[in-house]
Parts: sequence; C-alpha cells; structure tokens
Amino acid sequence: MAGVNRKLLLDCALCPNMCRCECPVDKEYGREAVSPSGKARLAHLLLEGHLDWEEDLLEAVSSCLGCRGCRLLCPFPELDLCEELLQARTVERPPGMVLPAAAPYLNNLKKFGSPYGTRPVAQASPQGGSPEVLYFINCTAQANHPRSPQLVLELLEAAGVSYRVMDQYCCGYPAQIWGDMELARQLAEENRDRAAQSGARLLLTDCPECWHTFTARYPQWGCELGLPVVDAATYFLELVQQGRLKITPPEGIGSVTYHDPCIWARVAEMTAAPRELLQHIPGLELKEARPAGRETRCCGGGAMFQLTFPERSAGIARRRLEELPPADAVVTSCPFCRENLQVGGGKVLDLAELLGLAALR
Ligand code: SF4
Ligand code: SF4
Repeated sequence: MAGVNRKLLLDCALCPNMCRCECPVDKEYGREAVSPSGKARLAHLLLEGHLDWEEDLLEAVSSCLGCRGCRLLCPFPELDLCEELLQARTVERPPGMVLPAAAPYLNNLKKFGSPYGTRPVAQASPQGGSPEVLYFINCTAQANHPRSPQLVLELLEAAGVSYRVMDQYCCGYPAQIWGDMELARQLAEENRDRAAQSGARLLLTDCPECWHTFTARYPQWGCELGLPVVDAATYFLELVQQGRLKITPPEGIGSVTYHDPCIWARVAEMTAAPRELLQHIPGLELKEARPAGRETRCCGGGAMFQLTFPERSAGIARRRLEELPPADAVVTSCPFCRENLQVGGGKVLDLAELLGLAALR
C-alpha cells in the first residue's frame, strides 16, 4: 500500500488554502484546523514528530469527508488530499488508537462484518445456474433502508436478469477509515473469495464508496476483486435502453432534483448515466442542483461521517439541501446521501426506489 507523499502534504500545508470555500467540513466547523490546508499542516507536524498523536488531533485529521471538493481549486493536480490524510491516519497513527465515536462501529465490523451489526446473506434469483450479476448490497442500505436493495432485486427479476446476492462482508473501507488495515484486508479477501465462487459475470453495486474500494483500494491492498464492477445507474440504463424494463410515469412524482454523490461525480466521473436514466421516465421533470455534476457538494455522509460525527454531518446535509431546488423528491445514487439528505424532512429516493415506482407496477 502506498504511504504518505510527504512532499505533496507539505505543499498543501504551505498553500494559501483557497480551496477552503469548497470544503464542507471547513464551512460547517468554521475552524482553521479542519480546513484543507489546516489538516495538512497538522498531519505534517504529526508525521514529522513535532506533535503527538492525541485524540483531538486524530479527530481533526479525520475530519475529512473524502469528497474531493478541494480538488476543484487545487493547483497541484497530483494531490488528492483526502487520500494523503487517510494514508497518514492509516499508516502512521499509533497502533490501536481509535476515535471513541468510531469504536462501537469498528467492534461491530470485527464481530459481524458490518459496522451496523447486520449483513446481507446469500440469495439467488429464481432462474438458478451461474448468475449474470453478483449484487453487493451495501451495509448502509441493508441496515437503514432495506426496501431499496429489495427493489434492485425486483427490477433485476422484472428484466429477466439472473443474479446472486453476495453472502458478503463490508467492502472494508470503513475499517481503513478507522485505522484497522488488517481488518480491511481480511474483509477484502473474504469478498474476493466469494466473488470468485459466484461464477457471476459482473458485480453490481449501488454504493460509490464500495465501487471505489473495489476498483481502486483493493489493488492498493494487494487484493484484486477479479470481477468487473458496474454501478447501478449504468446497469439499469442499459436494461432500459434494451427495452427490458417497461417505464411508466411514477405515481405522485412529477419532478425530481438529482443530487450527484461526490465519488460518482468526481472520481468515477459518472454524471450522465443517472440523468439519462431519469430522462427515460415519461413526464418527469429533472431539476438541477446548484452546483451540480463535477462541482457537486458533499451531503456530509462521506467517509462514514454520519456515524462518527452525526451532528456535523447533519449540518452539512442541511447546507446541501439549501442548494437543491424544490421538487417532489430528491433523487440520488448513494446510500449515504439517500440517508443524510432526509434531515430536511423531504422525500429522498435512490434511483432504484424511483425506478421501482416507474417500472414495477
Ligand atoms: S476532501 Fe472534502 S472534506 Fe476533505 S479536505 Fe477536501 S473538501 Fe474538505
Ligand atoms: S488541497 Fe490544494 S488548494 Fe487546498 S490547501 Fe491543499 S494544496 Fe491548497
């Protein structure tokens, strides 16, 4: 696994910090220490031994959503600050040091394979045989809004796609965030073995953090998943284009505002597929957030923030909601955004839920 790039971290520590206007954490806390360059300065001083790893400093350098908003204004194209901060926390923090707020979730992860203490069990489609799709149900939807993964399965069945639900463990990213790389690798190896046993052609995920972990982090951890990983928006768009799902107007929903999750928009550069999918729904008005697409702003749910810093996370979600024009529902394609944006009390759906209303009647 790559270590910290100390030269880049120092560049960031010495930078005028203009990107702080794009950092949702900086805006919410209003504290220099958790601004992008502020976190880089603390990480630099910790790594160089000028500061000791104490709980408040670990909390400050952990106060990053991984949203990459700072990259929009960063003069160093090769710098991915959230990854440098993650590496600093993963590789350099004293062994066993865990934020108290993260400890119960890390314990769940060790004991049950999910931060929430429950995890999906294997399930096969009625077609039997080697499945086309291995569906990886993300821990957050499974624990908090299980109707959404259930609708994914119903949509696959309606389109005649054979599938298997993975008897899975968490993708492992939360373990890395909370500093336990041994556990992260162990979870990755479990998932790699189950993916290989499934005989499926591809792995389907509706979680951008899982997608990023499978495609970018597993290779860094020396554990290739061995299956192509496809996001749900792209996959369902193909099914709709092939005429395998019949789309009708969803009852009670005439307009939606699409919120781009930051990893899909800025890492996967996947902004067109969900919009195209929404445009296939007859009579649906699509409204755009300001900002949208690559310039989107985080909902506050990235990097497990809503578990470890719930009040701050909700505050960031409220700020994001102010940037979304009114519509019958907010639609998104990430389980964390789906959950966090509910803080305003409005209707929030993920793509599968909206598609379920439009294609499963
Ligand atoms: S990745 Fe997001 S939360 Fe982290 S420093 Fe950059 S803008 Fe702030
Ligand atoms: S992330 Fe880039 S723009 Fe932001 S403070 Fe660091 S070096 Fe400067």
